[in-house]
Amino acid sequence: MKINPPKINIDSYFDYAASTPLDKQVLKSMLPYFGEHFGNSSSIHTPGQIAQNAIDLSRQKISLFLGCNLDEIIFTSGATESNNLALHGVIEANQSKNYIKHPNIITTTLEHASVLQPLSCYAKQGIKIYYIKPNQDGTVDVNKIIKTINKNTLLISVIYVNNIIGTIQPVAEIGRAIKSIQKQNHSQFPVFHTDATQAINYLNCKVEYLKSDLLTFSGHKIYGPKGIGILYKRQGVNLSSIFQGGGHENNLRSGTLNTPGIVGVGKAIELIEPNQNIKIAKLRDLLITEILKIGNSHVYGTPNNKTPNMACFYFNDISAQDLVIALDLENIYVSAGPACASKSLMSNTESYSFSNGVRFSLGKFTTEKSIRSVVKKLALIINRFRKL
Ligand code: PMP
Repeated sequence: MKINPPKINIDSYFDYAASTPLDKQVLKSMLPYFGEHFGNSSSIHTPGQIAQNAIDLSRQKISLFLGCNLDEIIFTSGATESNNLALHGVIEANQSKNYIKHPNIITTTLEHASVLQPLSCYAKQGIKIYYIKPNQDGTVDVNKIIKTINKNTLLISVIYVNNIIGTIQPVAEIGRAIKSIQKQNHSQFPVFHTDATQAINYLNCKVEYLKSDLLTFSGHKIYGPKGIGILYKRQGVNLSSIFQGGGHENNLRSGTLNTPGIVGVGKAIELIEPNQNIKIAKLRDLLITEILKIGNSHVYGTPNNKTPNMACFYFNDISAQDLVIALDLENIYVSAGPACASKSLMSNTESYSFSNGVRFSLGKFTTEKSIRSVVKKLALIINRFRKL
């Protein structure tokens, strides 16, 4: 069967938080490693060493971006795997070494499913998980986290930027508080993990600023390829692996390294343009102003304390799913916010529900013209629904 997908107009793509288009320069950097430089980086012959050199260069770029050592970077298949490795890794290492007999874990109800789901498995095994709920503005209170820490707290996992409404969590402040507790106790616990997948494009992700022990992100949210993720692991943090095999990545992630993906994510990191933030924030604010002119429309949270690229709306009487489908028929691509949230997130956020949210997320190809055009079409669709 011949598959002939329709052409996507990037002007009407408003789902950059789900995935970004691959940057042309990133694609160019990757192509040789799909072609003539196909060697396995573990091989000691020349094709293998060409792949190894390309991986080394990418590792250098990422370590420069995060401000960390080369051996603190572990390549994985994506942020989902990185989050799983971080959480399982710390919990399993503790179970085998028995540092803390009855460990507990602190997290928030704003986390991605790839944090909440693994933790819920451990909850079933008897590990106490404390879920901190956000305030009305969509951010968690540092003091609530600090007050929950006790001598048995093994791990604290706090997302840097929530993937539905884009609120920035006070990760650096939390990190500083955890570091001083670790110092006081002369201990590596509680280990501090942050999922920075939605933050990398926009925020300071230097690990010394965040004071995180583990940090996660993914290639395809930064105009890089899919199927490649990073886990930063601070030297000295004990982690068990989840894959057994050839002992790649310092025995922490066995499996032949994905050379094209690694080269691509290195290039994507190099191309991050922080000076884009102002332009994108202006477009996001225009989108909010114009959508709020449509009757009975609301936005979750305030633009303060958010990354510049996201806005999540709800239209009381209209289902988010219906709206996403109606917009798709007009070749406009947005996301039904909670569709990417897990059930546990929804049930744990009584104080801050994102129900029926329609997420618009912007990126480097969004223009004022595309914003004005999408709002016009959205208003027509909403009027049509309301007349039904
Ligand atoms: N964490 C966050 C905050 C995300 O937004 C996503 C992607 N939706 C992930 C983790 C999972 O990333 P990946 O698709 O690379 O597995």
